[in-house]
Amino acid sequence: MIITVDIHGIGGKWWRMKDMPTTIKVLPIKDLSVAAVIYQCDEDEEGRAVYEYEIYDQAAFDRAVIPTDGCRCDCCGQQLKYACIVEHKPTTEIYYVGRQCANKIDFLRGQSSTIENASVAMAERALCNAREKEFRRDHPEAIPALDWARTGINRCAQDIASKLRSYGLSDKQIEFLVKLHEDDKAKRASATGTCPTGKQEVTGTILNVKKVPNEYSRYGGTIDKVLVDLGNGAKVYGNGPSNEHPEKGQIVKFSASFEPSQKDNLFGFWKRPTKWTVLNAPPVVDTAATIRWNDGDDDSLKHCDAAPSVCS
Ligand SMILES: [Zn+2]
Repeated sequence: MIITVDIHGIGGKWWRMKDMPTTIKVLPIKDLSVAAVIYQCDEDEEGRAVYEYEIYDQAAFDRAVIPTDGCRCDCCGQQLKYACIVEHKPTTEIYYVGRQCANKIDFLRGQSSTIENASVAMAERALCNAREKEFRRDHPEAIPALDWARTGINRCAQDIASKLRSYGLSDKQIEFLVKLHEDDKAKRASATGTCPTGKQEVTGTILNVKKVPNEYSRYGGTIDKVLVDLGNGAKVYGNGPSNEHPEKGQIVKFSASFEPSQKDNLFGFWKRPTKWTVLNAPPVVDTAATIRWNDGDDDSLKHCDAAPSVCS
């Protein structure tokens, strides 16, 4: 039996509904919009449905009261794994519609690729969540390291944490993640200071210099990106002064405006360096050591540039 009902009394056409055994399903055919697509991916300990969401209209989504025992399609009555939360704009009435029924409704058909993409994204996310849940169950010893990695404080650890979600981890990777966390804890325990804040003068050792193209200069050229170890456990990063040539190993003193990283108080950035002074002399070639190394050692070639007279 087919019943057509105008529940909102605004006239016009309505989608024709089947008379379902339990309820009469009604859905207007016009002015519908997908507020969200949800995916029932799991159940919690008390048997309540756990959903993944892709939300397109937060206000409409907030009006929906999502059943804790799963969704049924307001068109066909089917129990749904994927449900489109559909809002009828003129009345702000919320409906749940399955993907197949959504495809039969003119007003929703245009949104079918959105619905399909959302379904794929949520299924992937649910799979990743399942991998992580399993990992937490099987490797309780690595949970603190995983939680630490997820904060993004260490890029390498963060990368491993995202690999866990996408592929799972080998025992070696788990071991490495735990070691990174232990190293980080040790570093923090032994730190005697933090990254400076505001305008400060600091002294530290250059750990690394990386030349990058200067995008702001019309003449081209490069900028030195410099990493400095302040010796108290903190490291700071910023542009070297344009009139200097910073080198790894130099001990430098300079003033700048510092800002600590939001994730890590042992790391920070500087701007506008001034009074850049190199405190140590350039590294001296130890000629005696070079002669000793040269004694039939293949490595001797390395020293030719430094001490050509020894090699000739
Ligand atoms: Zn349906």
